[in-house]
Amino acid sequence: MTLSQKVASTIQILQQIEKEYLPAKLASSFGAEDQVLTDLIVKHAPQIAIITLDTGRLHQQTYDVLKKTRDRYQTTITVFTPRHEQLESHMTEFGPNAFYESIELRKACCFVRKVEPLKRAIGGSKAWLTGLRREQAVTRHDLGVSEWDAAFGMQKFNPLLEWGLDDVWNYIKENDVPYNVLHDQGFPSIGCEPCTRAVAEGEDIRAGRWWWEDPVHKECGLHNQKGKQ
Ligand code: SF4
Repeated sequence: MTLSQKVASTIQILQQIEKEYLPAKLASSFGAEDQVLTDLIVKHAPQIAIITLDTGRLHQQTYDVLKKTRDRYQTTITVFTPRHEQLESHMTEFGPNAFYESIELRKACCFVRKVEPLKRAIGGSKAWLTGLRREQAVTRHDLGVSEWDAAFGMQKFNPLLEWGLDDVWNYIKENDVPYNVLHDQGFPSIGCEPCTRAVAEGEDIRAGRWWWEDPVHKECGLHNQKGKQ
């Protein structure tokens, strides 16, 4: 499939979501894929809302792209932060860098900073959208474009599932979409600053996320449940 065919098919999915699944929300972390979806949503399916999670541990470059995206599209990007009492108790009990100590503590941090805020962010929606692509990780190989998300009790759409990395970057260049400059510095996948590193050429694109863990554990709890349709 050519890029323009993939774009047309993605627009069709977004417009179907807009017709049948409102309220629907894109959860954006301002990675390249999320920026493509933001551009397509603003232009073709503007009733889909855009939300983001500010974990409190993001790179400055990620805040910069949030600002650029607000300025460029003049659209509302609703920001959700962790619940202060949960974060205070997690930090007090386990310290600031507990994610390096065990998978359990890393997942506990992701729960407080990402999963719980996401639940509030998309709660009450009929569907949520992500920029996941099949080729990104072993944990994403059997995803569907549309699937029932049992954990969040709503439909989950991955409209860019079959896009390749080249498709994403060609779209960004052709449409002058703002993107995170860390992508130019060897970061194919960008999350929290202490849990993300640059990768070497030829290295797996998810190798820079939680690089001290086995690849099968490398999700933050947002994308674990399946119910493909
Ligand atoms: S990615 Fe790291 S810092 Fe961010 S929420 Fe997860 S464990 Fe915490």
